[in-house]
Amino acid sequence: MSEDYLYTIKKNVTGIQHSLPPGVLLVAAAKTRLPDEVKTAINAGIMAIGYNYIQEAERMHNIIGNTVQWHMIGHLQRNKVKKAVKLFDMIETIDSVELAEEVNRQCVSESKVMPVLIEINSGKESNKTGVLPENIDKLIIRINSLTNLRIQGLMTMGPRFGNPEDARPYFIATKAIFDRIKKTKVPHVEMRYLSMGMSNSYKIAIEEEANIVRIGTALFGERNI
Ligand SMILES: *Cc1c(COP(=O)(O)O)cnc(C)c1O
Repeated sequence: MSEDYLYTIKKNVTGIQHSLPPGVLLVAAAKTRLPDEVKTAINAGIMAIGYNYIQEAERMHNIIGNTVQWHMIGHLQRNKVKKAVKLFDMIETIDSVELAEEVNRQCVSESKVMPVLIEINSGKESNKTGVLPENIDKLIIRINSLTNLRIQGLMTMGPRFGNPEDARPYFIATKAIFDRIKKTKVPHVEMRYLSMGMSNSYKIAIEEEANIVRIGTALFGERNI
């Protein structure tokens, strides 16, 4: 891996970090990246790393350790929850009662309290994960009583269109749900984090008041897979 390439990562991290309004957390979406790439990003100021797959996260965790926050940003399978609970500081992708209950069960056995975000399928795409907007209230009510989960906000992918402007309506819709839930003041539910926006859409997501952005390509370059 060339010095030039690592220098580019450093420059990208610094550039994006400086462009973000205060209070916005930049999560480096690190899937497929090598240890040197991730370490470079951390040295340049990245404080949170996002992973989609447990195995890959575990491997990197063995190298990096807890010097950063670990966010689960991919679809979480129930048989991987035990490991996920050990590894992650936040799970951004809770989208069913069954998954929430399993996360809670493992948290109880680890004596851990897990901050979670509810993933919304704001594009209502049948092939996407996330709870449909019309089902979110029911989901929150049902998982709110779980002792070791803390609902702290919402996450959405939004459809991955070519034109980033096309993502805006989905970000607006998600923010509206965020505000509505916040206003209803459900006990124990804190609407604090709104995780939306990726490399091509994060600027728009921030305009629509995201305070977590998950960025891979714009930090590390194009992925091979
Ligand atoms: C890969 C990924 C991202 C980042 O995507 P880029 O287009 O590379 O910035 C964000 N969120 C999730 C859930 C991802 O899987």
